[in-house]
Amino acid sequence: ILSKVVRNLSPLLQEKEITVTWEPPEPGHEVTLNGDSRLLTRLFYNLIQNAYKYSEAGGSIAIRLQKSPDFVQVQIRDCGIGIPDADLPNIFERFYRADKSRSRETGGTGIGLALVKQIATLHQGSVAAESKLGQGSTFTVRLPLERQGTKKQRLPLPQSDPDPKDSRPAL
Ligand code: ATP
Ligand code: MG
Repeated sequence: ILSKVVRNLSPLLQEKEITVTWEPPEPGHEVTLNGDSRLLTRLFYNLIQNAYKYSEAGGSIAIRLQKSPDFVQVQIRDCGIGIPDADLPNIFERFYRADKSRSRETGGTGIGLALVKQIATLHQGSVAAESKLGQGSTFTVRLPLERQGTKKQRLPLPQSDPDPKDSRPAL
């Protein structure tokens, strides 16, 4: 998912000459977890897009993935504009944008991080932010590898429809 998101954002990153440090796990060492890949793609897209948006041209972003026995941790660090201390506790609220005058030129609605938090929570995980104004920000996502109850409460897959005429587009 992380590799795909970086690839999708790479034209924008290149245009702004932002360097991304991301070393995907070696083949055979990928991290697998129970979750909704579409939502997890959105989670990491929003975080990496923010790192891009709130970095100066020529900046750098580092993405680090660490696995422990129980959870996977992904850190996305940028050396961008940073977030004022007073705003930091509120950035995961819907429609909240730090220092409106600075954020205005980048565009956006202030919904990206609210979604990040909702998706992390939905996966029984967490997200946290650290930042120093003018120096950069680090967002840390933790997702459990085995969610409580998922083993026994696995939902049955819907029957696949053999008639393509009746198939509805995926959401
Ligand atoms: P969008 O809904 O398009 O994502 P947004 O980027 O303004 O709009 P969020 O992603 O929710 O909204 O972020 C909320 C606010 O937190 C931003 O407006 C910005 O002020 C601050 N912020 C988020 N990520 C960063 C970052 N990496 N560096 C600096 N500020 C950030
Ligand atoms: Mg955003």
